[in-house]
Amino acid sequence: MTISIQGVSVSRGIAIGHIHIIQHDQLDVREYTIRNTQLDNEIQRLNDAIANARLQLRAIKDHIPVSTSVDISAFIDTHLLMLEDNALTEEPKRLIKERLCNAEWALKLQRDALVNVFDEMADAYLSTRRDDVDHVVNRILRLLLNQKPLLHELPDNHLKNRIILADDLTPADTVLMQHYGIAAFATEFGGPTSHTAILARSLDIPAVVGLHNARRIIKNDDLVIIDGSTGIALVDPDKSIQSFYEKRQKEVKRYYSSLNKLKNAPTETLDGVPIKLLANIELPKDFEMVRDVGAKGVGLYRTEFLYMNREIPPDEEEHYETYMKVIKALKGLPLTIRTLDLGADKQVDGAGRQSGPVRSNPALGLRAVRLCLREPDLFRPQLRAIIRASAHGPIRIMIPMLTNVQEMKQVLLMIDEIKAELKTDSIEFDNDIEIGGMIEVPASAVCADVFAKNLDFLSIGTNDLIQYTMAIDRVNDEVNYLYDPLHPAVLRLIQTTIEAGNKADIPVAMCGEMAGEKEYTQLLLGLGLREFSVHIATLLEVKKIINNSDITKLTELTRMALNATSGAEIHELLQEVNSEIN
Ligand code: PEP
Ligand code: MG
Repeated sequence: MTISIQGVSVSRGIAIGHIHIIQHDQLDVREYTIRNTQLDNEIQRLNDAIANARLQLRAIKDHIPVSTSVDISAFIDTHLLMLEDNALTEEPKRLIKERLCNAEWALKLQRDALVNVFDEMADAYLSTRRDDVDHVVNRILRLLLNQKPLLHELPDNHLKNRIILADDLTPADTVLMQHYGIAAFATEFGGPTSHTAILARSLDIPAVVGLHNARRIIKNDDLVIIDGSTGIALVDPDKSIQSFYEKRQKEVKRYYSSLNKLKNAPTETLDGVPIKLLANIELPKDFEMVRDVGAKGVGLYRTEFLYMNREIPPDEEEHYETYMKVIKALKGLPLTIRTLDLGADKQVDGAGRQSGPVRSNPALGLRAVRLCLREPDLFRPQLRAIIRASAHGPIRIMIPMLTNVQEMKQVLLMIDEIKAELKTDSIEFDNDIEIGGMIEVPASAVCADVFAKNLDFLSIGTNDLIQYTMAIDRVNDEVNYLYDPLHPAVLRLIQTTIEAGNKADIPVAMCGEMAGEKEYTQLLLGLGLREFSVHIATLLEVKKIINNSDITKLTELTRMALNATSGAEIHELLQEVNSEIN
């Protein structure tokens, strides 16, 4: 019998495949006493689990594609070495014998002892070794407890065409999905503008989040249909449902390929207003696609993905080489590089990870420009690399999460210092490199005029602007219902920002997910937005709407939307105008 579970849609597309469950939840390790006669058997269990952990790691290492930019290999070598260390191989055996306890418990005791030693070390590098101990011990524990390994613990051919089901996934997990050939994913938690969701759209992987308790209903290897557009998961579909979705899958494909004819068309409204349509990029695979899809450049390059799934952060040279690759792929199109926005839901293993106690509100904490200013050793190499790369192509610098003028001034000062250093060393760069800021905190939207006076461009980050305006954590599915781009407060902040840019005569773009949702395109045009930066996957859909819109006819819609009292009212208005041009 088909069971239907409703979640939240985050990345369109239909996938039909077998489930692979990933269990991130805390491992439930319990102590039990064994008899003397069971000792040999218990020690053998531990030996086998360690040997299997070794095999898993070697299999992953053998499957790392040559093109992988991340330093996975070194990471795996470290873990392999740990599996040879007496602290993990011999000490737990001594504990098994001494306490007559099960292997899991002995391993847990030894883990706790090692972690305590690491916790007492102030050295940031050594404290990252604590996580390595955790990773390695958890891998052995999962084998002892017969649990499935986590995503990054599997060789990549293992998951081809599978649908991943997990409690939650991190952006670092999601980054790996494409090279695993994963067909789709579904999670029990998470929000539609989390970075995990954004990556799914970028990778064009169908995805649904917020499928509460799905792991109680769905089991490993079950056949499931994921409809990323409606947010539905269908478990064990009967033949007629399956063939309906197979047909739908083909129709959806046909629709998207029909948009291809728009690739080379200009982006211009019916009444002749030219619109700049730019691409958001994250991963190397996006670099080549910007030109293919007919984007006029990159409006947002999220560089924090350079930091994921590795221990050592990229140095200046690696940043520089990466930016040179993008410049080469763009062949003269402008590239907006956003300086790193780590923190909140983008935690990484290596540098950039915050020390000290775990904070309860990471989205309100040390993230993006705040973290960069606190840790110049992390920030400066990136800035230097961007400025050096500006000698070779049209580059703009974009600063995320500006909240007050001091932050902006500090960054501008740092950029001036770097320029002076480069001049002294006769290193080329573009002295007129444009510097812009993201408007994604309500405080900076209200004061957009202040930022507009000091910067060359602004870009509205609606994902965070909505999160902070509505006081909802963008990764918390329990408050998803309050995520509303059409809330009058959000629209007024957008309007204020656009007006501030117009007054200062600088361009204002929008690079949050709202810019790529075709339902909002006409309203944004009416509000005066002339630059949209969207995912490559949604760019042509948005272009189609722009090219069929008449801005002169949108004045009334905009006036009514700005005077509306609720998002629901505006949603109705939009349905009407959208139905006229769809
Ligand atoms: C935003 O907040 O809208 C944005 C584009 O930045 P990010 O999604 O990476 O936080
Ligand atoms: Mg943001």
